Amino acid sequence: MSTKPANEPSGLAQGPGPATAAGVPLPLAETPDTYGAYPRLSDAQIEALAALGPRLGVQPDQVLFREGERNCDFFVVLAGTVAVVEGRGTPEEHVISVHGHGRFLGELSLLTGEGSFYAAVAADTGEVLAVPVDRLRELVAHDPALGDLILRAYLIRRSILIGLGVGVRIVGSRYSLDTRRLRDFAARNRIPSRWLDLETDPGAEALLSQLGVAPADTPIVIVHGRLLRNPSNAQLAAAVGLPAPSVPSTSFDLLVVGSGPGGLSTAVYGASEGMQTLVLDATATGGQAGTSSRIENYLGFPSGISGAELADRAVLQARKFGARFAVPATAASIGRDNDHYTVRLDDGTSVTARSVVIATGALYRRLDLPRLEHFEQVSIYYAASQAEALLCRDDPVAIVGGGNSAGQAAVFLSRHAARVTLIVRERDLSEYMSRYLIDQIGRIANVHVMLGTEVRELLGDQALEAVAVTDSQTGARRTIRARALFIFIGVTPCTGWLDGLVDTDEHGFVRTGPRARPATDGAAEAETGWQRSVLETSQPGMFAVGDVRSGSVKRVAAAVGEGAMAIRLVLERMQSYE
Ligand SMILES: Cc1cc2nc3c(=O)[nH]c(=O)nc-3n(C[C@H](O)[C@H](O)[C@H](O)COP(=O)(O)OP(=O)(O)OC[C@H]3O[C@@H](n4cnc5c(N)ncnc54)[C@H](O)[C@@H]3O)c2cc1C
Repeated sequence: MSTKPANEPSGLAQGPGPATAAGVPLPLAETPDTYGAYPRLSDAQIEALAALGPRLGVQPDQVLFREGERNCDFFVVLAGTVAVVEGRGTPEEHVISVHGHGRFLGELSLLTGEGSFYAAVAADTGEVLAVPVDRLRELVAHDPALGDLILRAYLIRRSILIGLGVGVRIVGSRYSLDTRRLRDFAARNRIPSRWLDLETDPGAEALLSQLGVAPADTPIVIVHGRLLRNPSNAQLAAAVGLPAPSVPSTSFDLLVVGSGPGGLSTAVYGASEGMQTLVLDATATGGQAGTSSRIENYLGFPSGISGAELADRAVLQARKFGARFAVPATAASIGRDNDHYTVRLDDGTSVTARSVVIATGALYRRLDLPRLEHFEQVSIYYAASQAEALLCRDDPVAIVGGGNSAGQAAVFLSRHAARVTLIVRERDLSEYMSRYLIDQIGRIANVHVMLGTEVRELLGDQALEAVAVTDSQTGARRTIRARALFIFIGVTPCTGWLDGLVDTDEHGFVRTGPRARPATDGAAEAETGWQRSVLETSQPGMFAVGDVRSGSVKRVAAAVGEGAMAIRLVLERMQSYE
């Protein structure tokens, strides 16, 4: 085992000492428990787990699980040390972390069913406890303290892997749309990945010639040692093992379209009420919230929670109750046949359900600027998560927008970028931004706010170098240095797939409750005595929650609350059919 340390920031994973001349590693130093990623189980917790699986003696270099392996056991180190290794058996082999007595192995993939992004190898003679993952799930259902300890550690470990760039390799040019698509898909789905830019990274060319791939045939993706040539998002999802990329052909009680906070909450409450529930999402679980670096106004999280963590927790919770997920799966159209709805997906398959909850949210608007599409491939972002922050580390960046998402992005990016310029059209920041964010921004030295200002031009050759802005009152023009531009200027509802089946308002948001005009002249309603409930659309048994709903409050908590409420209304509607 090579002991080359991982490419890591700030001592998250400690590289062990050098190998001896005989190639036998010297004793490996245990990785410190930074951020609670590697807690040690108590004797009582180990004892509880020991009842569920065998104790196994291990020898140096013995592999406990391999890269790409799915559904492996949950291992606890009882004696000796175990190294977590990426690229085992390849020239890139390196140790990510090292664990001794009382530490448990694995990360989020163990619970989600994805293939492991690394191998675990015994570093010396020792003993481990091997608990089948199904038995672990049973135990944590009865022992919330242990369950939370493991889940928290796994979520932090996933963030560490993403930060280290461990996992999937994407090789492609920064000017390729497909490279950008694959990078975005990996980032949105929180798939640990590293991008090798064909334009600037000498390693990219070396890797391509080693694999016998011509630069013209990029992007390529390497997943668990498998080479994929310009895969679709669905192919990448399947290779990584994201939940059920293909939709089962059964009919469901409840079909939830969209898995942002609204859809996830609907799924948790629907499945927990015993409804056969399927959730579809075109891109990734978590929706807009999944791209938020820190949600500070969600009840119960006084120090905030990242959107990714909230989404991961909700998905595990919904799956615990039996909800099924299909990602990526895009609803392309919908039709009604008596008391059933059929949603057709963009891959030609379809799924039928008695009730449908529309939770497709909204997408961020684009700026109307020359060369926007060109710069969107390399320097323009509509989310500010850890993945984007890594790409613009120590660069000057600009953010357009005066709402809370722009404010949050400014606070978050200020920790990574050299300088953040917040460009706001309004002359007063308090018009759309919450007070707490305005106060935070005011205290950050490297955030500069420009009020009453609009972006007019994007400057740069291949990549963005600056933006030209004008003062909306004086017309004065200025150039702001920016290697990346983040755009947060409002949203458009994702309702194209509804194809006019339900009533929408003048902006395309779905009307619900008494405001929704009936699909017919209302005669059917009068005949059956159908009373439309508050979240019900103009079609019976079809509901809308969250940002996609006309008049909704564009907040995570509101979407979650509506998801919970929708289930009660869905159940009432189903009972009315019986
Ligand atoms: C960067 C950022 C920061 C934010 N911060 C906060 C905050 O701190 N606090 C707060 O309260 N709110 C915040 N918000 C707003 C909040 O995230 C949204 O109000 C919330 O996510 C809305 O949830 P939703 O479920 O209605 O829709 P969304 O989150 O928009 O999710 C909709 C989902 O539907 C999917 N979808 C769309 N069309 C289709 C289709 N045809 N087929 C299948 N799937 C489809 C999308 O891929 C998406 O995953 C933030 C938003 C952003 C972008």
